[in-house]
Amino acid sequence: MEQHAVKIKLVENATHDVLRIVLEKPGKYIFTPGQATEISINKDGWIKEKRPFTFTSLPDNADLEFTIKTYPSHQGVTNELLKLKPGDELLVGDSWGTIGYKGVGTFIAGGAGVTPFISIFRYLHSKNEIGDNKLIFANKTKADIINKDEFEKILGKNFINILSDEKT
Ligand SMILES: Cc1cc2nc3c(=O)[nH]c(=O)nc-3n(C[C@H](O)[C@H](O)[C@H](O)COP(=O)(O)OP(=O)(O)OC[C@H]3O[C@@H](n4cnc5c(N)ncnc54)[C@H](O)[C@@H]3O)c2cc1C
Repeated sequence: MEQHAVKIKLVENATHDVLRIVLEKPGKYIFTPGQATEISINKDGWIKEKRPFTFTSLPDNADLEFTIKTYPSHQGVTNELLKLKPGDELLVGDSWGTIGYKGVGTFIAGGAGVTPFISIFRYLHSKNEIGDNKLIFANKTKADIINKDEFEKILGKNFINILSDEKT
């Protein structure tokens, strides 16, 4: 699998423990909404530590975006991502994966498992084809809901939240 060294353009918090990372896009890079790739950090000791993450940007966007939940207790790649800043490099593999939009339905996700649906719903919204798709999104608390405002805007009443640790 080919690996592309790409620079980080932006790292910011999407929630208290989820990062939004925007990267330069390698030339002619192709993926479809819902697909993933393997990423590692281009620095000593981390190059071989590849982990799978899902594109949350759209194929036509100028940049690549990933939405990544961090696990400091694992002392692994996502903890290391917390230390990165614009200009640092990641190694991005080719795209793969069979998750993709198959037609109108009800999508069910928990926590960071929502990432394939971010790209799929953004894509449908950009085509004005959101239709009657629904998202049931389970999280512990309101503070854990990734892209809450955007999902509300795109899906309206079809964005249904379930919280396990908070009564609202
Ligand atoms: C196809 C696919 C797409 C994915 N897309 C995304 C995405 O878009 N966004 C996202 O946030 N996640 C995504 N994930 C999940 C993501 O790949 C993992 O969260 C990530 O690999 C964790 O990497 P890590 O190095 O931080 O920790 P890990 O690789 O999980 O752990 C590193 C080490 O920590 C130890 N460890 C493991 N579990 C624990 C624990 N509970 N407590 C303490 N130590 C532990 C183990 O020794 C392990 O080797 C995806 C996964 C798949 C399969």
